[in-house]
Amino acid sequence: MPGVCVQKIIVAGASAAGLSAARELRRRGFTGALTLVDREEGRPYRRPEVSKGVLQGLLSREDVGVPWPDDLDLFHRDATEIDSLDTHARELTVSTASGSERLPFDGLVVATGATARPSPFPVARGVHTLRTFADSRRMQAELAIARRVVIVGGGFIGLEVAAVCHALGTPAIVVEAAAAPLASVLGKELSAHMVRLHTDRGVRIDAEATVAEVHAGPDGAVRAVTLAGGTTLQTDLLLVAIGSRPEVGWLADTGLDVVQGVRCDHTLAVEGLQNVVAAGDVAAWTNPRYDRRMRVEHWTNAVDQGMYAARRLLGVHDEAGFSSAPYFWSDQFGMRLQSVGSTLDHDEAVVVEQDGDRMLVVYGRQGTVQAVAGIATGAAVIRLRPLVEAGVDMDTARARAGELLLPRR
Ligand SMILES: Cc1cc2nc3c(=O)[nH]c(=O)nc-3n(C[C@H](O)[C@H](O)[C@H](O)COP(=O)(O)OP(=O)(O)OC[C@H]3O[C@@H](n4cnc5c(N)ncnc54)[C@H](O)[C@@H]3O)c2cc1C
Repeated sequence: MPGVCVQKIIVAGASAAGLSAARELRRRGFTGALTLVDREEGRPYRRPEVSKGVLQGLLSREDVGVPWPDDLDLFHRDATEIDSLDTHARELTVSTASGSERLPFDGLVVATGATARPSPFPVARGVHTLRTFADSRRMQAELAIARRVVIVGGGFIGLEVAAVCHALGTPAIVVEAAAAPLASVLGKELSAHMVRLHTDRGVRIDAEATVAEVHAGPDGAVRAVTLAGGTTLQTDLLLVAIGSRPEVGWLADTGLDVVQGVRCDHTLAVEGLQNVVAAGDVAAWTNPRYDRRMRVEHWTNAVDQGMYAARRLLGVHDEAGFSSAPYFWSDQFGMRLQSVGSTLDHDEAVVVEQDGDRMLVVYGRQGTVQAVAGIATGAAVIRLRPLVEAGVDMDTARARAGELLLPRR
């Protein structure tokens, strides 16, 4: 993929990854035509606030707007659906309220992210999924008058929404299929701690539970759910937060491998196409750090991948590939949960700190640090990130973690 003669670039998807790619293209001196296409209306926004400040009614659309430099000099095609990609003609077919058209390109950034897994239940009224600002606003209006809420899925979004319900004084029950919410991501120690933080505040978490049936009232709106064990939970609002799937419908006829996201090599180049790269939630790339294919759904990863993908398109990238120890955060009850690295396959979890709401855990494998995660631990996780990236031994990581927490004692 030579990249250097690219003159007309389209960025498909104008969110964290897409905007980041556009900015990096300009920063790196790309002077050709740059078009950013997205089905959503208006400027990009901080999607993580959809399940936090926006849902709680604390943040407006303007508040969550992502800074957009005036000198980007791009054509922003918002409210524009990308219908398909013609890989031979190198054109996108897009449609707007006024019709459809074809947009030719010689470089393409695939940054269409992901979408919430749809609700599998037949009842629609009062049943929500959360991905966009509009989803959040719709749910917020109903949340304001709901007397009780059931949340299906105890992942980050489900638990953040439970925390928002708590802040609004609305009782919430989380129904989670796994034995311990978030345990696959955070390990069992921090998972148990998170459950405690919720239950201490009155959020009920029903683990190892699945929904067998959703019941509607005479008005067609959700009224109750029955769990597989027979328990019935009354509710005025049901949030279905059961994960997401990559937004690849527009690539269906390309013959590309999009089953687990858009398949890329270690440099985010889409396999089988010239001058086409992918970034963010949609990209399934081989992470050189772990030597395995991954799709990461975190904001910072999308921003970083957007920048790398732009450099890849211009041929000024690091040829070793996009290597990353993924970082994410989640805000619950006014506290920040953060994690860096991968807890997958860890054989050691050291709880460095557990003090009230605070907890910091260092995870290792065969004596080498793999990940660090903590809640209400200030900048400790961020400051430990270089150690995770360097793969230092567990003793060094644990000692440094202890030092970082000392001033707070
Ligand atoms: C509710 C919620 C809370 C989150 N909280 C956190 C958090 O606290 N911390 C964290 O690290 N991460 C969080 N995330 C994840 C983070 O927001 C994502 O990782 C990030 O937004 C990914 O950016 P992206 O640009 O890859 O994709 P997206 O943000 O999904 O953007 C893709 C864009 O492509 C557009 N698009 C898709 N298909 C088409 C099409 N066919 N035509 C036109 N446009 C299209 C979409 O409209 C969208 O604007 C959260 C996500 C959600 C949904």
